This record gives sequence, C-alpha cells and structure tokens, in this order.
Amino acid sequence: MGLFSTRKTNYVDCDILVVGGGMAGCGATYESRYWGRDLNIVCVEKANIERSGAVAQGLYAINCYMGMHWDENQPEDHVRYARNDLMGLVREDLGYDIARHVDSTVHMFEEWGLPIMKDPETGRYQREGKWQIMIHGESYKPIVAEAARKAASEVYNRIMVTHLLMDDTKPNRVAGAVGFSVRDGEFYVFRAKAVIVCAGGASHIFKPRAVGEGMGRTWYAPWSSASAYGLPILAGAKMTQMENRIVLTRFKDGYGPVGAYFLHLKTYTENAYGEPYEPTWYEATKELVGDYVDRHPVPTCLRNHALLEEVKAGRGPIRMVTKEAFQDPHKETVGWENFLGMTIGQAVVWASQNIDPKEINPELTTSEPYVMGSHATCSGAWASGPEDYAPDDYQWGYNRMMTVDGLFGAGDTIGGTAHKFSSGSFAEGRIAAKAAVRYVTDLKGQQPQANEAQIDGLKETVYKPLDNYQVGRNEIVAGTVSPSYISPLQGLQRLEKIMDEYVGGTSTFYMTNEPMLKKGLENLMWLKEDLDHIGAEDLHQLQRAWELSHRVITSECVTQHTLFRKETRWPGYYYRGDFMKLDDKDWHVFTGSQYDRNTGEWEMSTMPVHHIID
Ligand SMILES: Cc1cc2nc3c(=O)[nH]c(=O)nc-3n(C[C@H](O)[C@H](O)[C@H](O)COP(=O)(O)OP(=O)(O)OC[C@H]3O[C@@H](n4cnc5c(N)ncnc54)[C@H](O)[C@@H]3O)c2cc1C
Repeated sequence: MGLFSTRKTNYVDCDILVVGGGMAGCGATYESRYWGRDLNIVCVEKANIERSGAVAQGLYAINCYMGMHWDENQPEDHVRYARNDLMGLVREDLGYDIARHVDSTVHMFEEWGLPIMKDPETGRYQREGKWQIMIHGESYKPIVAEAARKAASEVYNRIMVTHLLMDDTKPNRVAGAVGFSVRDGEFYVFRAKAVIVCAGGASHIFKPRAVGEGMGRTWYAPWSSASAYGLPILAGAKMTQMENRIVLTRFKDGYGPVGAYFLHLKTYTENAYGEPYEPTWYEATKELVGDYVDRHPVPTCLRNHALLEEVKAGRGPIRMVTKEAFQDPHKETVGWENFLGMTIGQAVVWASQNIDPKEINPELTTSEPYVMGSHATCSGAWASGPEDYAPDDYQWGYNRMMTVDGLFGAGDTIGGTAHKFSSGSFAEGRIAAKAAVRYVTDLKGQQPQANEAQIDGLKETVYKPLDNYQVGRNEIVAGTVSPSYISPLQGLQRLEKIMDEYVGGTSTFYMTNEPMLKKGLENLMWLKEDLDHIGAEDLHQLQRAWELSHRVITSECVTQHTLFRKETRWPGYYYRGDFMKLDDKDWHVFTGSQYDRNTGEWEMSTMPVHHIID
C-alpha cells in the first residue's frame, strides 16, 4: 500500500454521473432531472460549476442559434454550413440533431435571466452574423449553473476525476468514476449506472506561443486539460477526427476574438504593406484543395492558410484594419465591450503595448493548436446517433452513447460535430441526458459492479505521485532537479515540445510528415514511461499530474490520427508535408482509433461519411 492511499474514501452511489459541469455538463444535469424525476443525478466538477469551463469568464455572443421561429435559418442550413467549414467531413446526423434543438435551449437561457440583445427595428435577437446572436453574457455561466444546481441531487465541486470505473460483471460497460478532492485530498468513488463525460477540450498539448511567465496566456482555457478524451480513450472508447486540431486567427498576444470585428464592425485584414493578401493565394490554394476554396463562407482553415502563406512570404505581420470602424463611436464601444465581456486580457495587453485600435491597426496571428469538439473543429468520441435520423452504421444503442456501454458524452467530448459552441454544447448535453435516462430505465435496476480490487488499485495509482515526491524529495538538487521523479510542469513542457516540433505546432508552421510523427510517437512513449515517476508535492501538483496524464494519452491519439490520415485535409490547421493535397478519392472518410490499455496498442480504422442533407 502506498503512503497516501490510506486517505479516506467516500462512496457516492447514483443513477447518472455527469463528469464536468461546464456548458454540456450543466445541460446534461438539467435534462437528466427533467426525464428522470426520481433518479439520483450527480454532477462532479474539478473547479466550481458557478464559474467553470470555457465560458467561465462570460461570452459576448451565442454562436449557434437558428432563429427557426422567424424563419431565419433551418437545421439543414447549419449542417451545410458546418460541413462546408470542415472541408466536407461532419457527422450530419449529430449536427442536425443539435441544430433542431438548439433554439429551445437559447429560449430557456433567456427565461432564466440571460440578457439577449434585441434588434430595435425588428424586435428579434440582435444578430452578429448568420449564426451568432449578441448577449450581455458576463453572467452566462452562473445563470446556466443555477439550473444545473437546482436539478442535481448533488453537485460535487473541486473533485478531479482521474479514471472511469469499468463493470466487473460485463465487459465494455462503464460503472462510474473515481477522483480526489483537490481541497482535502479525500478519495471519491462514484458508482453510477450511466456516465456522461462533459469535460471540455484540450489546451496545452502543443507548446503555446507565450512561454515562461506568459505560459497561461493561451486562447483556450489552460484548465481544459483533455480529460474529455483521456477518460474515454483509457476506457476503450472509439475516437474520431482527433487529427482535426484547431488553430485560431486572433489578435496577437491577448487572443482577443475577431468574430464581432469581422461580422459586426465590418473590419478587414491587410498585410504589413496595407495590401489585401487572400487573393494572392487563391490559385495556389486551389491547387491543394480544389473547389473547397470557392465555397462560401471560405472554410476557417483556408483563411488561416492564406495568412500563414503571406507571413512566410515575408509580408507580415497581418493587421486588422480597425482605424476606420473605430471612428464610429457605436462601433468603438462594441469593439471594446466585446473584449470586456469575455477576453479582458486583450484590452489589458493593448493597454500595456500602447495600442489604441482607433489609432493603430492591431496585429493578428495564428494560435498554437488545440483539440476541441465544439468549435470550428470536431475531434472527440465516436457516438451513436439519433434513432430517427442516423444511418444504420451510425447507430448501435442510445443517442450520444460511445462505443462503451453506458458511457455518454456531449460538447467538446463528442466528435464529428463542429460549430455547436456554447448553446449547442448545452443542447447536446440535454440530448445525451435524455438517452442516458432511458438507458438507466432499461437496465431495470441492474447495477454495474466495480469490485474493491479495482477501486483499491485505482486509489493507489491516483496518489502515487504524492508517494514519489515523498520518497524522492531528499535527492533534489537546484530546487527542482531530481534523479527519481519529474514534476508535472517538467512533464508538460516536454509534452508541448514534442507536439510542437514533431506533430505540427507553431515552430514548424504546422508542418509535419511521417518520419516526424513517428519520432514524435517514440518520444511520447519515453514520456509515458516517465509518468510513472511523476512527483507531486501537494494536492495542486497532484491535479497537475493527472491533467498531464490525460493530455499525454490525448496527444498520442492526435499523433496516431495525424499519421493515419495520409492527406492534408485542413491546410491552415496542419500540413502533411508528404501528402500536401486534399484527397477526396481516398480520404473522404472519418478516421477512428481505439486504444487497448492492456497492450498499449492503437487500432486505426475509417468510417464512411454519409451525406444525409443535399
Ligand atoms: C476562447 C473561447 C471562446 C469562445 N467563444 C464562444 C462564443 O463567443 N460563443 C459561443 O457560443 N461559444 C464560444 N465558445 C465555445 C464554448 O465555450 C464551448 O463550445 C463550450 O464551453 C463547450 O462546452 P463543454 O461543456 O464541452 O466544455 P466546458 O464548458 O469547457 O466545460 C468542461 C468542464 O469540465 C470540467 N472538467 C474538466 N476536466 C475535468 C475532470 N477531470 N474532472 C472534473 N471536471 C472536469 C471543467 O472544469 C469544465 O467545467 C468559445 C470557446 C473558447 C475556448
């Protein structure tokens, strides 16, 4: 027995366990109660659901709203839009399912007190763009969290979930999850009939542009630590499109969003010499991707591509032309408020660099890559689709159930469905919950079993980093250098360097190829070996250790997928130097992977892309 595994164990029995109380998790918790009046519904969150997840700081726009009752858009239109943006590859059944339910979700937000801006002339919601509506969203997350708190039997805040429990009586069935309190260090065992993973996406798997004192300054939340993928991967769930990492064009250094600037303020970009640059790259891009470059709107990755090519040609930096729009006092106010509601850091960075966008056109740059399933990208778990809409080979059970029995997901967790954003993630949480309630009801009281041996083994594993530190700390030299263990930060920086240099990060202009990917996999293997010797001096570091572990297995999955897809499907997100062109003949397919935790082997596969909507 380890030094720290004598800590108290708390057992929590429930019907439905929601892991992660962000947008999707709050949706799942709320809807579980709606359909499961008598069920025991538990939400577990590593932070506090009041202000957790990517929406913690608030948002200025809800990016997924159809406006069906005003006949503004129909769900089919949204599927076409997402398919176009993802260069043809989306799960149309899942996307349609979200689009047809998302408006009712937004109407509930308004009922609960979220102020949505109105167009003074039409009385409709104020549009920022075709799919976006503008909100006063500083309190978006607390409003949504209140609904979840009232719906849950119990919300457990400050518990980091480290592993899923598996059923000892039936193979490939989930039985709950374990984790530890980041405050008092006690061990938690959640025994559940169904688990809905809603743990967000992954930042900090690629080296960020800002390192050292600025390392927390990333576009995506630094606490989004890949549990949404790490937990299902280790449970044997099939993953899809994990190569489809996202790179964002944003204001330099503060990562301030550009959507409101382009869509509402009608600002535009130019190179360092005041020239437009996208037309310069039209022919060369067409050579790579064919007709996709002619689609409207131009896919997000291709807009990144033109910017990157212009910078490589020596005509950077690229700037957003704000000086004209900011002469209009209304637009100037909107421009600033856009940041103050969700990315205050950008305003602070501009102040620190003496940039007034009325006087100076600010620089744009591309971010390091992130892994997400809800933005302009669709990495995540392969999930069963809606019964009334999904083709047969996309259905094997309950809606949003993964390939592991009883294991559901929503939001960033689920793959193949880009552009769901905050509202679509909440809506997908609701969809998953409705199905999970039916799954639990169909079990008819049958309870998955996780035996004490499994639980004791996990407990020992979870606290091992504390043991490693306790045992090895006397050998430390120079404050942090130990012959016996590595610290979570050292491990994180090693991971980021491997992914950056071999798997298509910023330092290679997102370029990779087979030899680089193979070398990356080899280095990841050494890193995985060292994770057994990670040392955590306190509970905070223990959390960092487990976050790193989830990031590493996710990175391995990303690398395997990137190696498997022998084409460059999304130039601007990443490039396979050995297969520079998009190849619709051989690769108009989803990629799939399944990890065998006993052998450490990955099984790669392809799944067909069914176009259901014309
Ligand atoms: C920078 C940025 C800007 C965005 N702007 C917009 C916008 O303007 N409009 C819009 O509509 N959408 C926007 N989005 C998208 C939106 O935020 C996401 O689509 C949405 O938050 C995804 O929901 P989720 O529940 O999957 O993840 P999250 O909301 O991030 O929630 C994940 C939750 O899981 C918890 N968690 C993670 N790991 C564990 C663990 N191991 N144990 C327990 N809990 C865990 C986290 O703490 C978090 O609370 C933006 C996203 C980003 C990153």
